[in-house]
Amino acid sequence: QGSRLFHLEDTIVKTAHSEIGGRHFTMMAGPCSVESAEHVMKMAAVAKRGGATVLRGGAFKPRTSPYSFQGLGEDGLRYLRAAADAYDLDVLTEVMDQDHVDMIARYTDIFQIGARNMQNFSLLKAVGKTRIPVMLKRGMSATIDDILNAAEYIAAGGNHQIMITERGIRTFDNQYTRNTLDVGAVPVLQKLTHYPVIVDPSHAAGHTEFVTPEALAGVAVGASGLVVEIHDDPAHAFSDGAQALKPDEYLEMARQAFAIRNTL
Ligand code: PEP
Ligand code: MN
Repeated sequence: QGSRLFHLEDTIVKTAHSEIGGRHFTMMAGPCSVESAEHVMKMAAVAKRGGATVLRGGAFKPRTSPYSFQGLGEDGLRYLRAAADAYDLDVLTEVMDQDHVDMIARYTDIFQIGARNMQNFSLLKAVGKTRIPVMLKRGMSATIDDILNAAEYIAAGGNHQIMITERGIRTFDNQYTRNTLDVGAVPVLQKLTHYPVIVDPSHAAGHTEFVTPEALAGVAVGASGLVVEIHDDPAHAFSDGAQALKPDEYLEMARQAFAIRNTL
Protein backbone atom coordinates (compact mmCIF):
# COMPACT_ATOMS: atom_id res chain seq x y z
CA GLN A 1 0.00 0.00 0.00
CA GLY A 2 1.02 3.56 -0.66
CA SER A 3 0.36 4.99 2.80
CA ARG A 4 3.22 5.95 5.12
CA LEU A 5 1.26 4.12 7.82
CA PHE A 6 2.28 0.82 6.24
CA HIS A 7 5.69 1.69 4.87
CA LEU A 8 7.69 4.58 6.24
CA GLU A 9 10.62 4.77 3.82
CA ASP A 10 10.39 6.53 0.45
CA THR A 11 9.81 4.26 -2.53
CA ILE A 12 12.59 4.54 -5.06
CA VAL A 13 11.38 3.95 -8.61
CA LYS A 14 14.21 2.29 -10.51
CA THR A 15 14.65 2.25 -14.26
CA ALA A 16 17.64 1.68 -16.51
CA HIS A 17 18.88 5.27 -16.26
CA SER A 18 17.03 6.76 -13.28
CA GLU A 19 16.41 6.35 -9.59
CA ILE A 20 13.38 8.44 -8.70
CA GLY A 21 12.38 9.46 -5.17
CA GLY A 22 14.15 9.73 -1.83
CA ARG A 23 17.26 11.89 -2.04
CA HIS A 24 17.24 11.78 -5.85
CA PHE A 25 16.00 14.56 -8.12
CA THR A 26 14.95 13.60 -11.64
CA MET A 27 14.50 15.75 -14.71
CA MET A 28 12.12 14.42 -17.39
CA ALA A 29 11.64 16.32 -20.63
CA GLY A 30 10.52 15.91 -24.20
CA PRO A 31 7.90 16.99 -26.69
CA CYS A 32 4.20 16.74 -25.88
CA SER A 33 3.78 14.48 -28.93
CA VAL A 34 6.27 12.41 -30.83
CA GLU A 35 6.19 14.20 -34.21
CA SER A 36 8.82 12.38 -36.29
CA ALA A 37 11.92 10.24 -35.84
CA GLU A 38 14.17 13.22 -36.54
CA HIS A 39 12.33 15.64 -34.29
CA VAL A 40 12.19 13.42 -31.24
CA MET A 41 15.89 12.61 -31.71
CA LYS A 42 16.67 16.33 -31.64
CA MET A 43 14.53 16.83 -28.53
CA ALA A 44 16.25 13.89 -26.83
CA ALA A 45 19.61 15.62 -27.31
CA VAL A 46 18.22 18.79 -25.72
CA ALA A 47 16.59 16.89 -22.85
CA LYS A 48 19.88 15.15 -22.10
CA ARG A 49 21.84 18.40 -22.18
CA GLY A 50 19.58 19.79 -19.45
CA GLY A 51 20.32 16.83 -17.21
CA ALA A 52 17.23 14.76 -17.94
CA THR A 53 17.39 11.00 -17.54
CA VAL A 54 13.86 10.45 -18.86
CA LEU A 55 12.54 11.33 -22.33
CA ARG A 56 8.80 11.99 -22.45
CA GLY A 57 6.70 11.92 -25.60
CA GLY A 58 3.13 10.98 -26.45
CA ALA A 59 2.34 8.51 -29.21
CA PHE A 60 -1.29 8.05 -28.13
CA LYS A 61 -2.67 11.48 -27.25
CA PRO A 62 -5.74 12.18 -25.08
CA ARG A 63 -6.91 15.22 -27.05
CA THR A 64 -9.90 17.24 -25.94
CA SER A 65 -11.22 17.23 -29.51
CA PRO A 66 -11.39 14.05 -31.62
CA TYR A 67 -10.40 16.17 -34.62
CA SER A 68 -7.05 17.18 -33.10
CA PHE A 69 -3.83 15.22 -33.79
CA GLN A 70 -4.15 11.87 -32.03
CA GLY A 71 -0.51 10.74 -32.11
CA LEU A 72 1.65 8.56 -34.35
CA GLY A 73 0.77 5.35 -32.52
CA GLU A 74 3.25 2.47 -32.61
CA ASP A 75 5.50 4.26 -35.13
CA GLY A 76 5.82 7.07 -32.60
CA LEU A 77 6.85 4.57 -29.93
CA ARG A 78 9.59 3.25 -32.22
CA TYR A 79 10.94 6.76 -32.84
CA LEU A 80 10.77 7.59 -29.13
CA ARG A 81 12.60 4.39 -28.15
CA ALA A 82 15.34 4.99 -30.72
CA ALA A 83 15.85 8.57 -29.54
CA ALA A 84 15.99 7.54 -25.88
CA ASP A 85 18.45 4.75 -26.63
CA ALA A 86 20.69 7.08 -28.62
CA TYR A 87 21.10 9.30 -25.54
CA ASP A 88 20.86 6.71 -22.73
CA LEU A 89 17.48 7.98 -21.54
CA ASP A 90 14.42 6.19 -20.20
CA VAL A 91 11.15 6.38 -22.14
CA LEU A 92 8.00 7.81 -20.54
CA THR A 93 4.86 7.59 -22.67
CA GLU A 94 1.13 7.58 -22.13
CA VAL A 95 -1.06 4.50 -22.28
CA MET A 96 -4.72 5.37 -22.80
CA ASP A 97 -6.25 1.98 -23.42
CA GLN A 98 -5.91 -1.27 -21.48
CA ASP A 99 -5.69 -3.15 -24.79
CA HIS A 100 -2.44 -1.28 -25.55
CA VAL A 101 -0.62 -2.13 -22.34
CA ASP A 102 1.28 -5.15 -23.67
CA MET A 103 2.24 -3.43 -26.92
CA ILE A 104 3.42 -0.20 -25.24
CA ALA A 105 5.29 -2.30 -22.65
CA ARG A 106 7.62 -3.41 -25.45
CA TYR A 107 8.82 0.18 -25.92
CA THR A 108 8.54 2.06 -22.65
CA ASP A 109 10.36 2.19 -19.33
CA ILE A 110 7.57 4.10 -17.58
CA PHE A 111 3.84 4.18 -18.34
CA GLN A 112 2.10 7.52 -18.05
CA ILE A 113 -1.53 7.47 -16.98
CA GLY A 114 -2.89 10.85 -18.00
CA ALA A 115 -5.09 13.17 -15.98
CA ARG A 116 -8.17 12.17 -17.99
CA ASN A 117 -7.64 8.51 -17.18
CA MET A 118 -6.70 8.84 -13.53
CA GLN A 119 -9.84 6.96 -12.50
CA ASN A 120 -9.97 4.57 -15.44
CA PHE A 121 -9.90 1.63 -13.07
CA SER A 122 -9.58 -1.11 -15.70
CA LEU A 123 -6.55 0.70 -17.12
CA LEU A 124 -5.06 1.12 -13.64
CA LYS A 125 -5.56 -2.59 -12.94
CA ALA A 126 -3.98 -3.49 -16.27
CA VAL A 127 -0.76 -1.53 -15.58
CA GLY A 128 -0.86 -2.86 -12.02
CA LYS A 129 -0.38 -6.37 -13.42
CA THR A 130 2.86 -5.33 -15.11
CA ARG A 131 6.10 -4.60 -13.30
CA ILE A 132 6.79 -1.46 -15.32
CA PRO A 133 6.89 1.82 -13.35
CA VAL A 134 3.80 4.02 -13.66
CA MET A 135 3.54 7.81 -13.54
CA LEU A 136 -0.01 8.57 -12.43
CA LYS A 137 -1.13 12.13 -13.18
CA ARG A 138 -3.69 13.89 -11.02
CA GLY A 139 -7.06 14.38 -12.66
CA MET A 140 -8.06 17.99 -13.15
CA SER A 141 -10.84 17.66 -10.58
CA ALA A 142 -9.35 14.95 -8.40
CA THR A 143 -8.83 15.39 -4.67
CA ILE A 144 -5.72 14.15 -2.93
CA ASP A 145 -7.60 11.12 -1.62
CA ASP A 146 -8.89 10.42 -5.15
CA ILE A 147 -5.37 10.15 -6.56
CA LEU A 148 -4.08 8.14 -3.60
CA ASN A 149 -6.93 5.68 -4.07
CA ALA A 150 -6.26 5.54 -7.80
CA ALA A 151 -2.64 4.65 -7.02
CA GLU A 152 -3.92 1.80 -4.85
CA TYR A 153 -5.56 0.25 -7.90
CA ILE A 154 -2.08 -0.07 -9.41
CA ALA A 155 -0.44 -1.23 -6.19
CA ALA A 156 -3.17 -3.81 -5.53
CA GLY A 157 -2.01 -5.67 -8.62
CA GLY A 158 1.48 -5.95 -7.14
CA ASN A 159 3.13 -3.09 -9.03
CA HIS A 160 4.59 -0.73 -6.42
CA GLN A 161 6.75 1.29 -8.80
CA ILE A 162 4.44 4.30 -8.82
CA MET A 163 4.96 8.07 -9.12
CA ILE A 164 2.29 10.64 -8.31
CA THR A 165 2.26 13.74 -10.52
CA GLU A 166 0.71 17.11 -9.73
CA ARG A 167 -0.08 18.76 -13.08
CA GLY A 168 -2.53 21.46 -12.08
CA ILE A 169 -6.19 21.31 -11.22
CA ARG A 170 -9.23 23.26 -12.35
CA THR A 171 -10.01 26.34 -10.30
CA PHE A 172 -11.89 29.56 -11.09
CA ASP A 173 -9.57 31.10 -13.61
CA ASN A 174 -8.47 29.44 -16.80
CA GLN A 175 -7.96 32.64 -18.73
CA TYR A 176 -4.34 33.27 -17.79
CA THR A 177 -3.16 29.80 -16.80
CA ARG A 178 -4.42 26.49 -18.11
CA ASN A 179 -4.78 24.92 -14.66
CA THR A 180 -3.73 25.84 -11.13
CA LEU A 181 -0.57 24.15 -9.94
CA ASP A 182 -1.44 22.86 -6.49
CA VAL A 183 1.98 23.38 -4.93
CA GLY A 184 0.53 22.69 -1.50
CA ALA A 185 -0.41 19.20 -2.63
CA VAL A 186 3.25 18.25 -2.98
CA PRO A 187 4.23 18.25 0.72
CA VAL A 188 0.80 16.90 1.66
CA LEU A 189 1.21 13.95 -0.73
CA GLN A 190 4.75 13.39 0.55
CA LYS A 191 3.42 13.19 4.08
CA LEU A 192 0.70 10.72 3.14
CA THR A 193 2.47 8.48 0.66
CA HIS A 194 5.94 7.03 0.17
CA TYR A 195 5.67 7.21 -3.63
CA PRO A 196 7.77 9.90 -5.34
CA VAL A 197 5.84 13.10 -6.10
CA ILE A 198 6.61 14.76 -9.42
CA VAL A 199 5.54 18.19 -10.68
CA ASP A 200 4.46 18.89 -14.27
CA PRO A 201 4.54 22.69 -14.63
CA SER A 202 3.72 22.58 -18.36
CA HIS A 203 0.11 21.39 -18.20
CA ALA A 204 -0.45 23.55 -15.11
CA ALA A 205 0.87 26.80 -16.59
CA GLY A 206 -0.30 26.32 -20.16
CA HIS A 207 1.83 29.26 -21.30
CA THR A 208 5.59 29.13 -21.77
CA GLU A 209 6.30 32.26 -19.74
CA PHE A 210 4.80 30.72 -16.58
CA VAL A 211 6.33 27.26 -16.91
CA THR A 212 9.72 28.08 -15.39
CA PRO A 213 8.39 29.89 -12.29
CA GLU A 214 5.94 27.04 -11.64
CA ALA A 215 8.67 24.45 -12.18
CA LEU A 216 10.92 26.20 -9.68
CA ALA A 217 8.06 26.44 -7.19
CA GLY A 218 7.65 22.68 -7.53
CA VAL A 219 11.31 22.12 -6.81
CA ALA A 220 11.19 24.50 -3.84
CA VAL A 221 8.34 22.59 -2.20
CA GLY A 222 10.34 19.39 -2.51
CA ALA A 223 9.13 17.55 -5.60
CA SER A 224 11.25 14.52 -6.50
CA GLY A 225 11.34 15.56 -10.12
CA LEU A 226 9.93 17.63 -12.93
CA VAL A 227 8.32 16.57 -16.19
CA VAL A 228 8.36 19.35 -18.79
CA GLU A 229 7.42 19.79 -22.43
CA ILE A 230 10.05 21.14 -24.82
CA HIS A 231 9.96 22.09 -28.50
CA ASP A 232 12.36 23.86 -30.85
CA ASP A 233 9.53 25.39 -32.90
CA PRO A 234 6.55 25.74 -30.55
CA ALA A 235 4.41 27.62 -33.09
CA HIS A 236 4.36 24.49 -35.25
CA ALA A 237 4.16 21.88 -32.50
CA PHE A 238 1.56 19.15 -33.15
CA SER A 239 0.18 19.67 -29.62
CA ASP A 240 0.63 21.95 -26.61
CA GLY A 241 2.98 24.37 -28.38
CA ALA A 242 1.78 27.29 -26.22
CA GLN A 243 3.35 25.73 -23.14
CA ALA A 244 6.54 24.28 -24.63
CA LEU A 245 9.90 25.56 -23.44
CA LYS A 246 12.35 26.24 -26.24
CA PRO A 247 15.72 24.52 -25.83
CA ASP A 248 17.43 27.59 -24.32
CA GLU A 249 14.53 28.22 -21.96
CA TYR A 250 14.56 24.59 -20.88
CA LEU A 251 18.31 24.57 -20.28
CA GLU A 252 18.07 27.69 -18.12
CA MET A 253 15.06 26.32 -16.21
CA ALA A 254 16.93 23.07 -15.57
CA ARG A 255 20.02 24.90 -14.36
CA GLN A 256 17.92 26.84 -11.85
CA ALA A 257 15.96 23.75 -10.81
CA PHE A 258 19.09 21.77 -9.98
CA ALA A 259 20.52 24.81 -8.18
CA ILE A 260 17.43 25.19 -5.99
CA ARG A 261 17.32 21.48 -5.29
CA ASN A 262 20.94 21.60 -4.12
CA THR A 263 20.08 24.18 -1.49
CA LEU A 264 17.31 22.05 0.06
C1 PEP B 1 0.61 15.08 -21.51
O1 PEP B 1 1.45 14.72 -20.68
O2 PEP B 1 0.90 15.45 -22.67
C2 PEP B 1 -0.80 15.15 -21.08
C3 PEP B 1 -1.81 15.03 -21.95
O3 PEP B 1 -0.93 15.38 -19.75
P1 PEP B 1 -2.25 15.43 -18.82
O4 PEP B 1 -2.81 14.04 -18.83
O5 PEP B 1 -1.70 15.83 -17.48
O6 PEP B 1 -3.18 16.45 -19.40
MN1 MN C 1 0.95 17.86 -23.46
